[in-house]
Amino acid sequence: MEQRGGSGGDQQGGWRQLWAPWRSGYIRASHRKDTRCIFCFGALREASRRRRLVLYLDPQACVMLNRYPYNNGHLLIAPRRHLADPEQLSAAEAAAIGALQTASVRILRQALAPHGFNLGANLGRVAGAGIADHLHWHVVPRWNGDTNFMPVLTQTRVVSEHLDASYALLHPLFRQLQITVS
Ligand SMILES: [Zn+2]
Repeated sequence: MEQRGGSGGDQQGGWRQLWAPWRSGYIRASHRKDTRCIFCFGALREASRRRRLVLYLDPQACVMLNRYPYNNGHLLIAPRRHLADPEQLSAAEAAAIGALQTASVRILRQALAPHGFNLGANLGRVAGAGIADHLHWHVVPRWNGDTNFMPVLTQTRVVSEHLDASYALLHPLFRQLQITVS
């Protein structure tokens, strides 16, 4: 049901409205010993990229699937350098990230035919950043009615199958991607 007005403000229309119960796995994961940055560690070796859900990598930036997605095809775009603030980005990094946002929207449209997107970054924990010390942008595809059907997916196992399927679908499209930044 659409909620209008009230105290919820624009949160009602944002991706927080999606109910994503597998994200409880994210809460549990945050208590594990492995504190390596997912954006830095995921880029290390070719062999680990598939496991780390890395779809695209160049000297400036990377794109990966969010392991704890708010929706099917939820992507994360990050600079290769471990930095927290957009003001620290070089011109080349900012250009690469801009180009990857556009390319990600195009590829997701082609592969998953969403009706809309949430696209943005949370800067700092107070703003909702789960990983506050490595800047990243979210690209979340949205479908009409997705807030209604998502609660059906209540098991982490189901989500991991979705991640494998999403990776298999999106990786060939990102492999063809040529981002040239001068
Ligand atoms: Zn990092």
